[in-house]
Amino acid sequence: MPVKPLYEDIDIPNTDLWTYLFERKDKPWPDNKEIYIDAVTKRSYTWLQVKNTAIEFGRGLRSQWGFKKGDVLGFFTPNSVDYAPVFFGAHYVGGAASTANPTYTAKELAFQMKDSGAKGIVTQLPMLSVAREAARAIGLPEDRIILLGDARDPSGKFKHFTEIKPTGILGAFNLGPTRVDPKTDLAFLVYSSGTTGLPKGVQLTHFNIVANIAQLDYVDRFNGIYHTGGQDGQGDKQLAILPFFHVYGLTCIALSGIRMGLPVIILPKFELEKACQAIQEFGITFASIPPPVVLALAKHPAVSKYDLSTIKFMNSGAAPLGRDLVEMVWDRLTIPIMQGYGLSETAPTLTKGVICDWKRFNGSAGKLLPNIEAMIVDLEGKEMPIGKEGELWVKGPNVFPGYLNRPELQGDTFSADGYFKTGDIGYFDERGNLYITDRLKELIKYKGFQVAPAELEGILQGHSDIADACVIPAHDRQRETEVPRAYLVLKPGVSRNDSKAQEITAWLDSRVAEHKKLRGGVRFIDEIPKNASGKLLRRVLKDMARAEDRAA
Ligand code: AMP
Repeated sequence: MPVKPLYEDIDIPNTDLWTYLFERKDKPWPDNKEIYIDAVTKRSYTWLQVKNTAIEFGRGLRSQWGFKKGDVLGFFTPNSVDYAPVFFGAHYVGGAASTANPTYTAKELAFQMKDSGAKGIVTQLPMLSVAREAARAIGLPEDRIILLGDARDPSGKFKHFTEIKPTGILGAFNLGPTRVDPKTDLAFLVYSSGTTGLPKGVQLTHFNIVANIAQLDYVDRFNGIYHTGGQDGQGDKQLAILPFFHVYGLTCIALSGIRMGLPVIILPKFELEKACQAIQEFGITFASIPPPVVLALAKHPAVSKYDLSTIKFMNSGAAPLGRDLVEMVWDRLTIPIMQGYGLSETAPTLTKGVICDWKRFNGSAGKLLPNIEAMIVDLEGKEMPIGKEGELWVKGPNVFPGYLNRPELQGDTFSADGYFKTGDIGYFDERGNLYITDRLKELIKYKGFQVAPAELEGILQGHSDIADACVIPAHDRQRETEVPRAYLVLKPGVSRNDSKAQEITAWLDSRVAEHKKLRGGVRFIDEIPKNASGKLLRRVLKDMARAEDRAA
């Protein structure tokens, strides 16, 4: 019997994101409620300004670029109050957004923009040169690079998104939002390596996204999050330090904020003191964070300088979190830290903690959201009883339909009866709490960001001294995160020593984005363990790394 949520099923409208957010009849707060607010500059958008900005930009895209239903707009930018209004513009005219990590190298960005078929790239001035290099590499004309944020291009060559206005015959009339099929048309195309190999386009339909917002809305209300009340009557306010390019920040903050009428206080990137300052200044009541931020809250001396007493709770997700840290934060700040769990492929949230019993089930990743069912299975796909560990399989309205242009992966991604195989290992207890204990898949998560071992292995194999390579996760206790570690076989005659290890590490680090650097170091071995058919036995090296890290 599959594991079911403790909640009853909720109604999930079969509608597109635009209609769900902007054409609703039941919006219980005024149009001029501020939704996206820059924590530093205080520049903001009200709900109506978000809608009107998106309509204007969408009509501009349609008339100036011929942007149309099914087209994809690429995003290569840190968080900004403009981020969501701009992607809603693409939705208005039937398109989707493919959001990329703004620390990517030009090569990494070019891969995603080409694979997603992006018709343009939205970026900011500091990333412009990387965006230009990527655009050049894939033959995207330079006038398809546009800017958002406060800074304009001093040369005037690259337009700000506000200059993409409706023009000509196509811009003369507002034709209204382009109608899409919520179950098949995409709202977002994010990238994940899934269980194996290189990053792939995760197709998130309008229905997937609407479902997850509705599921989160239900549980957030259960946890006492409302658009009214509080000292200023503005209701709950959330801090946005998670990047919007990742599905966790995208759905759980940017989208759920505008659906629930919760002001989103935005920081372009995580800086501890700025985050604490914003909490104090805006009276922020909750936040979604990754585990390294929990570490900072538990231990960093600067935290004590700020009044964080308005916080009701925080949700940690995107990577494993140790119980001790949760207790340390509670002892220091009396802030409950609950966990949530999910994946890009599930838009993302599958389970979430409940405030009434958070302390009792510290260490759990929470309970299933409504409308999701799950199974824990062994390696043969046989269902395991409650309390027993195995791979987690799930079904639900937020589960993606498959990877872009990769039909050959459907069989490995879904079971014969339609369960999505998460590649994570865990168990449920009697009360429906999920515990994630390990990972079957290759993926490494550095501070919640994905590192695909296959990508680093591919680069390492191109080094003239390396005969074979395998990259696995090591654990960095000080930073409370996994880090990539490379096990390498050198070519005959190349000497194994520290300087070779340093040289290779520096060589790789110069070719990848910040979060993919070989922070777990390099180890030289005689041969990479493989089975009879030549498949890498990563588990052997993973266990070796664990033993080494434990002994350290
Ligand atoms: P992403 O697609 O980048 O969101 O990564 C999803 C993966 O992050 C999952 O498959 C898990 O391996 C990991 N993950 C997310 N949340 C948690 C959690 N609460 N505990 C442990 N691992 C997590």
